[in-house]
Amino acid sequence: MATVETKPSDAPRAAELLRNLKSKDGVYLMYIDGEWAAASDGGTRDLINPANGEVFAKVAEGTKEDAERAIRAAHRAFYEGSWGDSLALDRARLLFRLAEKIDEHAAELSRIETLNNGKPLRETEYDMADAANCFRYYAGLATKPGGETFDVPAASQTFVVREPIGVCGQIIPWNYPLLMAAWKLAPALAAGNVCILKPSELTPLTALRLATWIEELEFPKGVVNIVVGAGPVVGHTIAASDLVDKVAFTGGTKTGRAIMQAATGNLKKISLELGGKSPNIVFADADFNTAVDYALFGIFANAGQVCSAGSRLLVEESIADKFVNAVVERAKKIKVGDGFDPSAEMGPLISRAHEERVEGYIKAGVAEGATLACGGKRLPGELGEKGNFIEPTVFTHTKPDMKIVQEEIFGPVLVVQTFADEKEAVKLANDTIYGLAGAVFTNDVAKAHRVIRKLRAGITWINTYHPTYNEAPWGGYKQSGIGRELGTYGYEAYTEVKQINVNLAVEPSGWFSS
Ligand code: NAD
Repeated sequence: MATVETKPSDAPRAAELLRNLKSKDGVYLMYIDGEWAAASDGGTRDLINPANGEVFAKVAEGTKEDAERAIRAAHRAFYEGSWGDSLALDRARLLFRLAEKIDEHAAELSRIETLNNGKPLRETEYDMADAANCFRYYAGLATKPGGETFDVPAASQTFVVREPIGVCGQIIPWNYPLLMAAWKLAPALAAGNVCILKPSELTPLTALRLATWIEELEFPKGVVNIVVGAGPVVGHTIAASDLVDKVAFTGGTKTGRAIMQAATGNLKKISLELGGKSPNIVFADADFNTAVDYALFGIFANAGQVCSAGSRLLVEESIADKFVNAVVERAKKIKVGDGFDPSAEMGPLISRAHEERVEGYIKAGVAEGATLACGGKRLPGELGEKGNFIEPTVFTHTKPDMKIVQEEIFGPVLVVQTFADEKEAVKLANDTIYGLAGAVFTNDVAKAHRVIRKLRAGITWINTYHPTYNEAPWGGYKQSGIGRELGTYGYEAYTEVKQINVNLAVEPSGWFSS
């Protein structure tokens, strides 16, 4: 399709970009039970462009009733419909076609994402390709996993099959809107589950565009429902419902705790992908320029709004001054701007409220006595006044117990710590409640492996930061989550395991005498 170059301040042109979404009376609709739906009470939410603070669209604001209607539709689709018993090959075909739709419309989707989320187009273009590949990966996997058989000490054959869990509630954040939807929907649908997806209320548009293809490709009614709305209303209803068999959540650790509590009623299955405060450890023998480059990429990609961001830079004392100076000099040169500006290397934060939260952390860092080596301020001029732009920020001379060292900031704020030796590096690296990710930069391969094996984290890198693959498991240790997404692990997390025992000697057991 023809691409629409959008100036975010230009709401009518935003409407042109969004013309393929379903709307009524200027309000973009949700997708429930195979139909396009306004909110049950007619409520709407303004969507705000984070680059300029302008309202560019209105979307239906789902209610508890809307969430319940979607849950009932999903429940019917699974327990009365044929999806759960459908051929894996048929589900795979649908998922491959969904991947093709994303690829064919990647230019449109990435522009919608940049308009809604703010991140530069080069990032959203990457995300769209990643989302398509996630559907493709699970389409392939749908037909692959087999069961297992066991030799047991009897005239019996025992084997194991995997079956879908059933009705899956999926609650996702705003930092990778379509990609997070893909991470949730693709494995769940491949395994034969039905879904109620709740996108972040701040960034629902690419998921709603995805729903137009779910309708077009004729996924059975109720198999995929997309309900937009506030977390404590729609999200909580999904997490608490007795008709939901599993809740899969990606978001903040505090919200994860609330979801876990809400899910106790029917002891539904639960998976949580939560926050992080991940260490990026640089030893003196590392390739200097590579380590500097990834230190920047680790924290300033997506303006630091990445769960696995390398938000703590741990540098060996002997190179600390030289290394940090190099990071700071390059951080100052990062071009911050509107995601539609081709020269922008870093975009805005998602909302004014989030920007103020990040500024609160910067103030706390200064108050606690850390040194602000660069940044720390809102962007000057119109961009900073209207949009949510914060300069790339680096803190040095920190102490391990400072708030900025311990808590997830989720913004472009790098906190530097120094260490004397390998032992101290490991101790500092593991010294938070989180355990999502971590990296080591060194040219000593044995040291790299020793340190990685000591990291209490689920996603790790040696001499790189951030690359992730649909093929490999994603998730955290400690308070960064429960369970794994992606890869075969992510597929298995959407299945129940059933053992089947077959008696090969069909005769009475003789246990009772008469
Ligand atoms: P958030 O926890 O505020 O919201 C995430 C989702 O939960 C949203 O859809 C929101 O509406 C919903 N929600 C909020 N309160 C709820 C409640 N009481 N019950 C049910 N649902 C509720 O997180 P956010 O601000 O959207 O995203 C940022 C957080 O997400 C960060 O902490 C980040 O680390 C985390 N994150 C983790 C991963 C990962 O894979 N581990 C990936 C991306 C983001």
